[in-house]
Amino acid sequence: MASSCRHHQQPPLSHPTTTTRWWSEDSVAIVTGANKGIGYALVKRFAKLGLTVVLTARDQSRGLQAMDSLKVLGVDHHVRFFQLDISDPVSIRCFVSWFRSSFKAFDILVNNAAVCFNAMNENSMEYAETVIKTNYYGSKQFTEAMLPFFRRSSSMSRILNISSRLGTLDKLNNPQMKAILGDKETLSEGRIDMVVNAFLEDVKEGRWKTQGWPEIWTDYSVAKLALNAYSQVLAKRYEGVVSVNCFCPGFTQTAMTDGNGKHSADDAAKMAAKIALVPVPVLNTGKFYVGSTSRGICSKL
Ligand code: NDP
Repeated sequence: MASSCRHHQQPPLSHPTTTTRWWSEDSVAIVTGANKGIGYALVKRFAKLGLTVVLTARDQSRGLQAMDSLKVLGVDHHVRFFQLDISDPVSIRCFVSWFRSSFKAFDILVNNAAVCFNAMNENSMEYAETVIKTNYYGSKQFTEAMLPFFRRSSSMSRILNISSRLGTLDKLNNPQMKAILGDKETLSEGRIDMVVNAFLEDVKEGRWKTQGWPEIWTDYSVAKLALNAYSQVLAKRYEGVVSVNCFCPGFTQTAMTDGNGKHSADDAAKMAAKIALVPVPVLNTGKFYVGSTSRGICSKL
């Protein structure tokens, strides 16, 4: 999971400056899975930079605890909390209804929430369905529910999907699946679902190890492959209206990595915020960014 910018084709992104600052306290950012880890650090970062932020967490008490921590840091005044389990359609509907009555629109959506049930060197598929349901379908369903609320403005709304290099196409050694996901012309939600269903079928039939799926954290990686592909579909569909990018934060010290990693969640959040807040003239769409504290942020696609 260590970061590398070997594939970068673009110069690293520069820091936003006051002249490139397009947002204000009326700009609204939503972060999923924000009670801890990179999501929490990102809420903190956005709040410090003066945006209004919606902190969401699947567990009410963990979300409120995160709010308490922000209060201690003195950055809670523009942060609102609402419970959201991205894998639960009822929870998504409650969130949408609350959002509609509390805000008119939002500018940034960061799909950060994810699960992984394996320790660092394990690769069990015991929870493959839950991993796919949360990390891919959860982010997708929440995005779709929120699409009507994107602000139509000259600063362009932004979706940032927190992804992983474990889910890039070079990790897939199944020629048929690779052809489906690699063909940008024909890529569609239906074709992504075909790939995901083929993986879940392979898991069910006990043959997933021999079918060329990614070798590390296979279920998690397939979910990220699907999320990356879905981001491509969205980027194409909303070109000129919403910018849709993916970001791999690199190996980061959080609960997901048992505290291992090359940098902190705050470091990862700083990079994620930089991508989400990039000024309009240099705003891209359909990119896969990789973050590294030593080499900065590079684009892989
Ligand atoms: P953490 O485990 O620290 O945080 C994950 C967050 O997602 C938690 O807040 C968790 O809530 C939440 N979550 C899990 N399931 C759901 C759900 N169904 N609905 C809403 N929220 C949910 O991990 P990280 O901070 O490391 O991960 C953040 C993102 O970064 C993920 O997308 C991950 O894949 C990605 N990433 C992380 C890397 C790393 O090295 N750490 C590397 C590459 C990518 P709860 O506390 O209730 O479990």
